[in-house]
Amino acid sequence: MSTKPHNSPTEESVASANFIVTAVTEDVEAGQNGGAVHTRFPPEPNGYLHIGHAKAMWLNYTLAQRFGGKFNLRFDDTNPAKEDEEFVDAIQADAQWLGCDWEERLCFASDYFETLYGYAQELIRAGLAYVCDLSPEDTQEYRGTGSKSGRNSPFRERSIEENLDLFARMRAGEFADGSRTLKAKIDMAAANMYLRDPVMYRILRAHHHRTGDEWCIYPTYDFTHGQSDAIEGITHSCCSLEFEIHRPLYEWYLQHLPVPSQPRQIEFARLNLTYTVLSKRKLIKLVEGGHVSGWDDPRMLSLCGLRRRGYTPEAIHTFLDQVGVAKFNSTVDMVQLENALRNDLNQRAERRMAVLHPLKVVITNFPENHTEELTAINNPEDANAGTRTIPLTREIYIERNDFRMEAPRKYFRLAPGREVRLRYGYCITCTEVVTDPESGEVSELRCTYDPQTGGGQTPDGRKVKGIIHWVSATASHTAEVRLYDHLFAVPFPEKNEPGTEEAGLTFLDRLNPNSLEVLATCKLEPSLATAQPGECFQFERLGYFCVDSVDSSPGQPVFNRSVSLRDAWARIEKQRKQ
Ligand code: ATP
Ligand code: MG
Repeated sequence: MSTKPHNSPTEESVASANFIVTAVTEDVEAGQNGGAVHTRFPPEPNGYLHIGHAKAMWLNYTLAQRFGGKFNLRFDDTNPAKEDEEFVDAIQADAQWLGCDWEERLCFASDYFETLYGYAQELIRAGLAYVCDLSPEDTQEYRGTGSKSGRNSPFRERSIEENLDLFARMRAGEFADGSRTLKAKIDMAAANMYLRDPVMYRILRAHHHRTGDEWCIYPTYDFTHGQSDAIEGITHSCCSLEFEIHRPLYEWYLQHLPVPSQPRQIEFARLNLTYTVLSKRKLIKLVEGGHVSGWDDPRMLSLCGLRRRGYTPEAIHTFLDQVGVAKFNSTVDMVQLENALRNDLNQRAERRMAVLHPLKVVITNFPENHTEELTAINNPEDANAGTRTIPLTREIYIERNDFRMEAPRKYFRLAPGREVRLRYGYCITCTEVVTDPESGEVSELRCTYDPQTGGGQTPDGRKVKGIIHWVSATASHTAEVRLYDHLFAVPFPEKNEPGTEEAGLTFLDRLNPNSLEVLATCKLEPSLATAQPGECFQFERLGYFCVDSVDSSPGQPVFNRSVSLRDAWARIEKQRKQ
């Protein structure tokens, strides 16, 4: 496979404008931040990245590229209980693979813990933060509800001195986990619940993957995120829509703290796709419940799963460009992702022949122990891909479903007495069908070939409509091939129809039991025996397949079907509707 390295956004991705590009253009033209653009992608290292994260990451990265700006990768690692170094490494590998380049700007929110602690003290000194002794349950109760305003905490009016002292003792480890919090003093009657004296720090004795046991108090997401943006000089902080409601608090902290810059938060719609779930919490359930083989199961929409499946970064870029960036939530058809891969692989994947469900054919008038080398085109879309030879022998395999005992009128493949062309070879006619006496199944076909029909010719001009793929029986390689279907059986696995028996089911009840089919004895062109992990091919008439990076061994590749040639699922849907 000719892999063009591609570590910068495609021309189209830089060109496709959206409302965020418009907003940033206005800021640049108005001379905000001296005309600079600096973005970031802030994953929490508590899981692997999925295609939804790819949208956020690619958007931020290409936005910076477009304006000649900078891009940071920042780990938002403020929740030590769930975070791990394993995820820090995997996220970097995935981000790099996608083509995002943060240069030397690999950042960690945990690097700002001391600065954030100082900011918290500043707020206390300004009379805008206090140590609160309410339990988590009472804090919840005091907060009120959407329709009922909250009540002031009895600890709200502590003196600045007392607050500074208690906060220092929180840090020193004098109090039990969960016994106290530091809260911002904003407005318990605010319509926006996030402004009702939000928690800034909690006491939590947990080992942090970077700071170890140095801290027993940890800042909350809201108190960390905007300040981290400001510390890094982020100009535009683009995040998904669920953070819109956090924006007033984001801005409140920036306004009331001596931060070095004033970033602007802009929200966009999350990516949702049919036939899948895209939330880390739910993907974890699939992994932990053993419903998939791991985060990199090729049916997962995680970036490592997509990569193992055979997705290319270029296909994902194209998909993301097509999906675009909008302000309202919607669900994208999975077919769109698959089409992006088909289009990409059609250009770059070399063609090979493989038979997934082998049926032996003996060409009775072909000499025994003879091999004829036929010439095949590697990639009709790429003139530089050249040709290869494939061996034709007396015994070959064809696809079981390319033969029928009784052929309907428009069936152009093999049947008793019928003639088809072997791809790149001769025309053969089925003269005899051998069936297994026990099962009654067809076990072998006997055919004759017409030596006059090489090179696509038929000497008498007779029409042979069907062309089928095949592989030599004696000179072939046997391999395992895995076929995948959607992981979920329905387009909206998370949607319950209220008032029906569907209600009460979860996405785990809607898994597709047939999402993985393992074919252990597929017959491949001999050259495929040395295919390398990650290499991708089009198996003619069957789809695009890549060598599995986990279960293959030298000389024994296992193939994953990345995507079929056409969208079989859409055809089934269409038939169902007719
Ligand atoms: P999940 O909801 O899947 O558990 P998350 O948002 O909790 O993911 P983070 O690591 O916090 O995971 O996400 C990092 C960034 O990725 C966030 O800024 C978030 O806006 C963005 N993001 C997460 N999921 C999507 C999605 N489906 N589409 C677009 N952006 C997303
Ligand atoms: Mg989140």
